Amino acid sequence: MIKENLGNMNIPSHVKLIAVTKTRTVEEINEAIRAGVNCIGENRVKEAEEKFNLLLKVEKHMIGSLQTNKVKLAVELFDMIQSVDSLKLAKEIDKRCAAIHKVMPVLIEVNIGNEKNKHGINPEDVKNFLLELSSLKHISVQGLMCVAPMLEPEQVRPYFKKMKQLFDSIGNLKWLSMGMSNDYKIAIEEGSNMVRIGTLLFGKRE
Ligand SMILES: *Cc1c(COP(=O)(O)O)cnc(C)c1O
Repeated sequence: MIKENLGNMNIPSHVKLIAVTKTRTVEEINEAIRAGVNCIGENRVKEAEEKFNLLLKVEKHMIGSLQTNKVKLAVELFDMIQSVDSLKLAKEIDKRCAAIHKVMPVLIEVNIGNEKNKHGINPEDVKNFLLELSSLKHISVQGLMCVAPMLEPEQVRPYFKKMKQLFDSIGNLKWLSMGMSNDYKIAIEEGSNMVRIGTLLFGKRE
């Protein structure tokens, strides 16, 4: 089933797929890895810690909101943190990575819809935020990430366009992480090169 779902998604080769594995069992995740998934995304440090030891070889990204008291463990578990949304968090990642001689690749989470109850840096503040991060030597900013407003896929398009414009105007960034099960095709049309997909790969979450 997972293998079939993976084939049906038709992700272009220039786009990196992050299989979102929150709530999924080790067995399901390993099945996905055997089917060809080479990067996974988890939302919670505790859940990641419980599962990661039992997984086949795979790249691991933190995609959920990260509390500073979980950073020490997170920098050991993950290969990338996609959800950097405050200077306080970035500084903590930098400090904890310095202690273990690691440079953590990170993405800046952008609140592209300026939504009240959403995490992320407001789009108009991103450039300033990047300047503030530039002195941190143990993080490497590689791109931008967003969770678009919950709308019909076609209505999300303007937000993806806005993300791509911001991404291009900054330059020098590698990854534009946007698009989930419902809207990844539109995100890719608008320039995403990293999609995060759970439901379409594994089925509905409980
Ligand atoms: C759960 C989640 C996804 C995947 O959502 P699906 O709709 O299941 O594809 C992507 N990104 C983040 C940050 C998530 O929390």
